[in-house]
Amino acid sequence: GADSISTVTSGLVRFIRLGQMDIEWEPLDINSVVAGIVTSMEFQMRKKGVVVHLGDLPPCMGDLVLITQVFSNLIDNALKYLDVHRPGEITVAGQAEKGWSIYSITDNGIGIPPQHQKQVFQVFHRVDPRRERGDGLGLSIIQRILERHRGKIQLQSVPGEGSTFSIYLPRVMEDSDEGVMEKD
Ligand code: ATP
Ligand code: MG
Repeated sequence: GADSISTVTSGLVRFIRLGQMDIEWEPLDINSVVAGIVTSMEFQMRKKGVVVHLGDLPPCMGDLVLITQVFSNLIDNALKYLDVHRPGEITVAGQAEKGWSIYSITDNGIGIPPQHQKQVFQVFHRVDPRRERGDGLGLSIIQRILERHRGKIQLQSVPGEGSTFSIYLPRVMEDSDEGVMEKD
């Protein structure tokens, strides 16, 4: 089901390099990160008649390029695995909790069967390779990026109803001295 040798190779190279790259830490405005991604996908969304709900998203600490990739891959998946039999809805929400900024990307798509919910984070694992194009690399790259940020990703999904991916990133501590980052 892979698109081509070259996209798979460049995806794999990216995945391997992620282990060594330096993280360029800075406070990130996730509202603007997500707004930019949604704008760039507006044409596809309109074509599919998808409604997007955006909550007020707290900032976090992270690498702008890598965290943009995380949100963009998750929103791409949410769009790609919608159920054609009902109008698509995608919600991005966020909250701050202790040392974390926690974001959720929820769709009302086809969902992921329980026996696949761990494996989808492994390289090349796809639930149904015939269904849509893809290399099966997106979620493994996301998981690696979050590990490099000392964060994490969680999946909750009901087949036939939809999926929620929750991502945890270090919070920006607004009222701490010198604006330094702190974490539990
Ligand atoms: P790509 O490398 O282009 O992202 P991909 O989308 O197939 O390819 P992943 O993003 O890693 O790869 O996702 C792995 C698999 O998990 C998908 O093939 C799909 O079966 C399943 N999946 C991921 N996100 C969702 C979702 N939101 N709803 C339903 N299934 C999903
Ligand atoms: Mg994907």
